[in-house]
Amino acid sequence: MGSCRGSSPAVLAAGPLRAGGEPLRRATPARLSGAPDKELLTANNRTFDSGLTYARIAKKARMAMIEQKTIRKEIRLDGAGVHSGKSVHLVLKPSDTGEITFRRTDLGNLESPIEPGRIESRNSTTLVGDKFRVQTVEHLVAALYAFGVNSLIIELDADEVPIMDGSALPFVRALEQAGTQGLSRKIPALKILKPFAVEEKGASIVVEPVEAGDVLWLSYTIEYPHPSIGRQSLSLTFRPETFARDIAPARTFGFIRDVEMLHSQGLALGASFENTVVLDDENVMNPPLRFPDEFVRHKLLDIAGDLALLGRPLLGRVTAHKAGHRLHFQVVQFLAASPDFWTDA
Ligand SMILES: [Zn+2]
Repeated sequence: MGSCRGSSPAVLAAGPLRAGGEPLRRATPARLSGAPDKELLTANNRTFDSGLTYARIAKKARMAMIEQKTIRKEIRLDGAGVHSGKSVHLVLKPSDTGEITFRRTDLGNLESPIEPGRIESRNSTTLVGDKFRVQTVEHLVAALYAFGVNSLIIELDADEVPIMDGSALPFVRALEQAGTQGLSRKIPALKILKPFAVEEKGASIVVEPVEAGDVLWLSYTIEYPHPSIGRQSLSLTFRPETFARDIAPARTFGFIRDVEMLHSQGLALGASFENTVVLDDENVMNPPLRFPDEFVRHKLLDIAGDLALLGRPLLGRVTAHKAGHRLHFQVVQFLAASPDFWTDA
């Protein structure tokens, strides 16, 4: 695949955000400081070319090794894209390359690996390259990430991963049925060494070293001024069991008042009561919920999928407050550009 447009994010580490211990660094792309909102949005939607920084990631993390894993047999799932509305056939194929590669069979088998420099954020997570695009990858890659599957070919005959029921549960069920298989080789992990934070308009994500054990610890808090949501908060250690039980079943949600605007932008064309928890101004229009706090659980699903786009397992403590895809990507892009913030163990 050809390279992506744009340039690597320049990063500015500002003063400490809190007292005590190692100072927390505020990770703000320098070119964005003081930028008006419109410019910030544009910059946040930009595709960064991180070919170089990605090579630095691989070099720096050489010593923190995680087992390569693929699936035991092929998985086939059919569905439709939540944004495109197009029907799509998805085939997951075992691979021993040590990376997750998306392949568009409708574009002469054009391929793109998962890399931080190939991400775009709109209302979902999109992998992009020259003449290549796969939308809404986050729920599928979150499930793969949770199960430690890091060597795989993902074939699609359209430009979007099927939304299924709006959650990652169908992907989890398929992975459980197919089974996973360790490969003889290992891949490097990113272990957080120094804390940093990304912030935008009252939203924040703090990333810190985890005190004990090589784990990814995730915490998410949302605050929606909506009677059916309000404030919800959940923390967990990211493991296959916790993901399958507590996170994977949580579905995509959206507000009926936004539908017209989304459709006018060519988004949510495949959204329905069958694949989205839909809210009017007061209630859930298609109850019942799968969890009373299904909304924050879905945010944990989304951030797991976005962090998976680092292309390597992340070991650390991630605390998100009122964040979303754009802020999730700022974490990914900061890490890709800042090898001094992580290390091998
Ligand atoms: Zn989602």
